[in-house]
Amino acid sequence: MGRKNQVFDNVLDLVGNTPLIRLNTITKPFKGNYYAKVEAFNPGHSSKDRIALYIIEQAEKQGIIKPGDTIIETTSGNTGFSIAMVSIIKGYNCILAVSSKSSLDKIDMLKTMGAKVYVCPAHVSADDPRSYYEVAKRLHQEIKGSVYINQYFNQLNIDAHYASTGPEIWKQTEGKITHLVACSGTGGTISGTAKYLKEQNPNIKVIGVDAYGSVIKKYHETREFDEKEIYPYRIEGLGKNLIPTATEFDVIDEFVKVTDEESAHTAREIAKTEGLFVGYTSGAAMQAIKQLNEEGAFEKDANVVVVFPDHGSRYMSKIYSDKWMNEQGFFDSINEEALESIEF
Ligand code: PMP
Repeated sequence: MGRKNQVFDNVLDLVGNTPLIRLNTITKPFKGNYYAKVEAFNPGHSSKDRIALYIIEQAEKQGIIKPGDTIIETTSGNTGFSIAMVSIIKGYNCILAVSSKSSLDKIDMLKTMGAKVYVCPAHVSADDPRSYYEVAKRLHQEIKGSVYINQYFNQLNIDAHYASTGPEIWKQTEGKITHLVACSGTGGTISGTAKYLKEQNPNIKVIGVDAYGSVIKKYHETREFDEKEIYPYRIEGLGKNLIPTATEFDVIDEFVKVTDEESAHTAREIAKTEGLFVGYTSGAAMQAIKQLNEEGAFEKDANVVVVFPDHGSRYMSKIYSDKWMNEQGFFDSINEEALESIEF
């Protein structure tokens, strides 16, 4: 890429066109070739830059917003950061309702990027007036000239990935991709990317990654909402306690569920083996690949693309903190390496 010698008009010119990086070491025991779409290379360090820019520009094109207006969103952090970044450059006010499950680092970062942040309780139902959905809806009604991005229920979330992530992966693999593995939160990434890729080659297999404690996998299999599937879990940005319309279940072939603990260890392993410092859900996606390999899901000529959604720096107080890992019970008592660095 010619990026090195280029001068850009502003930071938004760097959104998208992220690299596809071959995974060489962590994948050694597996059959097939593995490539990571490393979304941390976006200027806001996550895949959410794509949807923030795309959705705001669509609203501009349709004359729905003009500079000085307010953009509102519910977010676990990444989307908020991206919206805040786009708002700074384009001259919008940014209001974010976030879950109390989000790390303090993320919340501070959003404030640094000029956003007004409302922290809402994580473990209340979506229709509770204290939930971040309801808070965002209320603010949208109260503030004149505001736009509610509503990423879980916005078709443009899917369209953003259909327009960029899908074509990029197709080009980067020269059409040789056989499997796509991606986390599903809003479902925008996997749905938009899969839709584009399957239009090019309907044989590409699309595997979604879901968390234990989320309803998504069960819904995909039964088309029924099963409340019994829902319980608290640690991974941020993956899985859900409701069914987002930004997920197109028909373009996804299967879902794999992963645990908080194994995903955290796998994220740390990616850093140590590939030198890629990525977030918790990247660990989850890689963990899904490990499980799929145990089931013999890939042949030796498979070309598997896995999406790594964000950067590891956002998880310093969580999965990359030995203390936090120990508090979760994620280190067993004989892990000397871990215990050495913990202050008691
Ligand atoms: N990983 C992280 C860290 C995220 O913030 C998100 C978005 N919530 C996802 C994965 C899932 O992406 P999507 O919402 O497009 O399904």
